Amino acid sequence: NKTILLANRPTGMPAQENFRFEEHQVPELQEGQVLLKSLYVSVDPYMRGRMSDAESYVAPYAVGEPVTGGVVAEVVQSRNEGLPKGTVVLGNLPWQQYSIHSGKGLSTINPDITPLSYHLGILGMPGLTAYFGLLYIGEPKPGETVVVSGAAGAVGTVVGQIAKLKGCRVVGVAGSDEKVAYLKEELGFDEAINYKSTGNMNQAMAAACPDGVDVYFDNVGGEISDAVYLALNKFARIAICGQIAYYNHTSVPSGMRVEPILLKKSALMKGFIVSDYAKDFDRAAKDLAGWVQEGKLQYQETITEGFDNIPKAFLGLFTGQNTGKQLVKVAER
Ligand code: NDP
Repeated sequence: NKTILLANRPTGMPAQENFRFEEHQVPELQEGQVLLKSLYVSVDPYMRGRMSDAESYVAPYAVGEPVTGGVVAEVVQSRNEGLPKGTVVLGNLPWQQYSIHSGKGLSTINPDITPLSYHLGILGMPGLTAYFGLLYIGEPKPGETVVVSGAAGAVGTVVGQIAKLKGCRVVGVAGSDEKVAYLKEELGFDEAINYKSTGNMNQAMAAACPDGVDVYFDNVGGEISDAVYLALNKFARIAICGQIAYYNHTSVPSGMRVEPILLKKSALMKGFIVSDYAKDFDRAAKDLAGWVQEGKLQYQETITEGFDNIPKAFLGLFTGQNTGKQLVKVAER
């Protein structure tokens, strides 16, 4: 049974050497416990923050301990009446092929309705993040222009599509021509900008948003955001969801001063963590599942095969290897 531990804390860009593989025997099940077989492991940008020991909204991973995160797993042995063998669960679990669990905090998944992996993406944490940031903070209205950065990722693809459902003009920013084409041709974005090849981001943003920007859903930060701020309309709303451009920075980021713009435009900027909206999770999950079932939301995943490739899949998030939600398939059900 293999486990992936945090070997040491990264400085700057994380690397394979920050992780260590170990193998150990699975102990005997005690009364009340289940043995879980990991099926899909989620790798997420926020895990970079947990690899550091700086204060954040989630506790850091301990050096020498398993890395944990969202995992879809199957109960393969059970001494817990509530979780019989064959049950599929979602939980915050170690990067481990098999794990022993008390069952506390696991949610069960009905495997017959939607593919299991969706519960780590569009119907899980990234989907909920898109929903609350866009609808509760962005409050998009028909005809308004919505810009989303990190547009071709797990959260961004859902943001843009919900904004289209709400009747908005949608502009995405992403890091390759393939992603730009995907956003426009497959997901129906009105415009998309490749921030890596666009020479002048401010000009590109102004051209993509001839009527200005009413809602900005920011996954990234940095110069992409500066270009959006220069195009803001009066009463614009900005949801600060992620700042991946800074996650590997070793110094405090600096750049354009945005306060004078917020003032002049009477704009609202609000950071959020998806768990802030926990009381409305059921409602959001129901809406998202409904839109998926009605074919109104398309869902894209990048699935890497094999337990040993979990660190590689995680590291790829910082170089844009994924389109849609990055997952690792560890085992068949
Ligand atoms: P993604 O699927 O979007 O993967 C990350 C993407 O970020 C990459 O594919 C890459 O795409 C882009 N990226 C990486 N480095 C940079 C950079 N330096 N500048 C610009 N783009 C970069 O991840 P998620 O959808 O899971 O998460 C998106 C954001 O939302 C992250 O910042 C994450 O931390 C945040 N988040 C926040 C939550 C909250 O509760 N507030 C919850 C979940 C996520 P490209 O090819 O376009 O560069």
